[in-house]
Amino acid sequence: MFHFDPMYFLFLLPAIALAGWAQLRVRSTFNEAHQIAAASRLSGAQVAQQILAAEGISDVGIERAEGFLGDHYDPRHKVLRLSDDVYNGRSLAALGIAAHEVGHAVQHAQRYAPLVVRNAVVPMASFGSNASWFLLFLGAMMSSFNLILAGIFLYSTVVFFQLVNLPVEFDASSRARAILLRRGIVSPAEDKTVGKVLNAAAMTYVAATITAVLTLLYYLMRFGLLGDRER
Ligand SMILES: [Zn+2]
Repeated sequence: MFHFDPMYFLFLLPAIALAGWAQLRVRSTFNEAHQIAAASRLSGAQVAQQILAAEGISDVGIERAEGFLGDHYDPRHKVLRLSDDVYNGRSLAALGIAAHEVGHAVQHAQRYAPLVVRNAVVPMASFGSNASWFLLFLGAMMSSFNLILAGIFLYSTVVFFQLVNLPVEFDASSRARAILLRRGIVSPAEDKTVGKVLNAAAMTYVAATITAVLTLLYYLMRFGLLGDRER
């Protein structure tokens, strides 16, 4: 693994291909749906404001964020950060993404269990994604099985994070679509386009999860904890 291992590349190839495809699809689907003006004529920021008010959430702010699709909800500061295209956009793509991010704020307000678990595991997983590599490297150099086990344990927190992230993301999207429809902000016909954008975005999370799972399997195999490959 610490020289170039073609096995690792082969192992991850399906995930790399899926991730690349998902990225391209998000861009093309977003660009396409960004051309379609929403009948409501509302901007992403206005829709976010309306939904927050309707859900009785008064302590979440809305800010503009940098970058293409850099949209996110920050649970620590209780802020929705919307990229310029979404904040000011009046397209179906802008409305869908704004509503998805509000979906996370609603999850937070309702203490949606997978979100609570995900937020709790974030510090460990971000530490694990860096430290695991170092421990595995050291463990392989020193032939220390305990260090390798510790590295694999740390990496499994990354896998766990990705796995609990999936229901969080899918739930935010289905909440978003239901709220937009229920409040009459989008029509059923418009909802189909919104669904395409949000499903494309969800695929990037699926790809990230598969990458993490395959990497973990690779580590397990490489260090002889699964099957009996080279020692
Ligand atoms: Zn999300």
